[in-house]
Amino acid sequence: MIPVTTFADKKVAVFGLGGSGLLTAKALKAGGAHVIAWDDAALKIEQANAAGIETANLADIDWSDVAALVLSPGVPLTHPTPHWTVQRAKREGAEVIGDIELFCRERAVQGPDCPLVAITGTNGKSTTTALTAHLITHAGRDAQMGGNIGTPALALEPFTPGRHYVLEVSSYQIDLAPSLRPTVGVFINLTPDHLDRHGTMENYAAIKTLVVAQVEPGGTAVLGVDDQWTRAAADRLERAGRNVVRVSIESTLRDGYFADGTRIMYSVGGKPYPAAQLTGIGSLRGSHNAQNAACAVAACVALGIDLTAIQKGLISFPGLAHRMQTVGRKKTAAGDILYVNDSKATNADSTSKALASFHDIFWIAGGKPKAGGIESLSEYWPRIRKAYLIGEAAAEFARTLDGKVDYEINGVLSAAIDAATRDAEAAGLKEAVVLLSPACASFDQYPNFEVRGKAFVDLVLAIPGTIPVG
Ligand code: ADP
Repeated sequence: MIPVTTFADKKVAVFGLGGSGLLTAKALKAGGAHVIAWDDAALKIEQANAAGIETANLADIDWSDVAALVLSPGVPLTHPTPHWTVQRAKREGAEVIGDIELFCRERAVQGPDCPLVAITGTNGKSTTTALTAHLITHAGRDAQMGGNIGTPALALEPFTPGRHYVLEVSSYQIDLAPSLRPTVGVFINLTPDHLDRHGTMENYAAIKTLVVAQVEPGGTAVLGVDDQWTRAAADRLERAGRNVVRVSIESTLRDGYFADGTRIMYSVGGKPYPAAQLTGIGSLRGSHNAQNAACAVAACVALGIDLTAIQKGLISFPGLAHRMQTVGRKKTAAGDILYVNDSKATNADSTSKALASFHDIFWIAGGKPKAGGIESLSEYWPRIRKAYLIGEAAAEFARTLDGKVDYEINGVLSAAIDAATRDAEAAGLKEAVVLLSPACASFDQYPNFEVRGKAFVDLVLAIPGTIPVG
């Protein structure tokens, strides 16, 4: 944990005691702040008390000497309306910030020379973050990874010379972190999302752009430039004389990194050089992953890591659990069956990325259906050898597929895996893919997508002859 010393002897209100909120309260207390925490859930308050954190309803405390309100990223700051604690703090003259802000202020004091990579975007944040941290570690440097990806930033190991920090930051976290000044800021892409929270696309784009606009002097702004928002941000920063590195998977660039199939090229003044090779790297299949990988490569080059070390790191990237993760392989007379866990794909859009990444797919889908169903996936039907339907969505998905894709209704995951394995073995393919990419939430049969993915992995590895991968 990183004790927060920048609020020593000051009174700090903390609202929201989920994973990062409770940790934040502890880090503030460890650094000598007087912390008063609160949450809407009684259980969270009990847990905070058990951890030795003082709690009180923030509506009833004396705010006259509260220096700051530290808000959990899930609590509305502006849209649809500011949370009551935000209104109160503003009225009382207390600043409203988040845990990433505390991390940044601590870094300014305790670890100004520790490189910080901050990564945002609508999609691919976690993959790019995990890959960047992996590449840094693989190059023999010390990397700490956290933020939105799981480990709260303040739960990371304290600052020490040479230590790198790689943080995934959501728009909510950026909104609460005015001092976020990374060494390398990465803005992967922007598509409409979370507009309930940010009001307009312009506002959402403006918040995300801060990650690259606030890069510290001498630092690097890495931007995917395949949408109008990131492109406009790159143009603006470049006009302002900033160090901008562009990344594209849709077009060749005169200057920057671009994808040429599974190769990542680096172009200077219109002269392209091969920078990295993704061929055969299962964890980075698909053009969306080329975008993530190119961003991670650009970030690591900006940190001074050489391309040979980067290439070695790419090859050993295990991928993220439950996201197009190859978990097992089984030899057949004709070739191989790959088992791929994409349990994180809880809607059709996410599933489209997996279906676009493979051929000869034996597709396990279904669960708790989402609005819109799977109609939007029709362009991928030719890639699907057969679908195996589970959960509440099975009948609805069967209606969509009827007459277009061969399917059977299996109800539960174990039956679907058995049936898909049987058919994949009989198909005589060089590479058959049994893919769990449900396009549905898991809640009808599992507590969450992680448990669903783990069940898939366990069932796959129990099949005689399957070899674990990764
Ligand atoms: P995030 O952390 O932004 O949610 P992840 O890296 O966890 O992103 O990926 C989640 C899903 O989003 C993936 O399974 C894939 O379907 C899709 N995805 C990943 N990277 C990209 C990208 N660069 N562009 C579009 N979609 C992506």
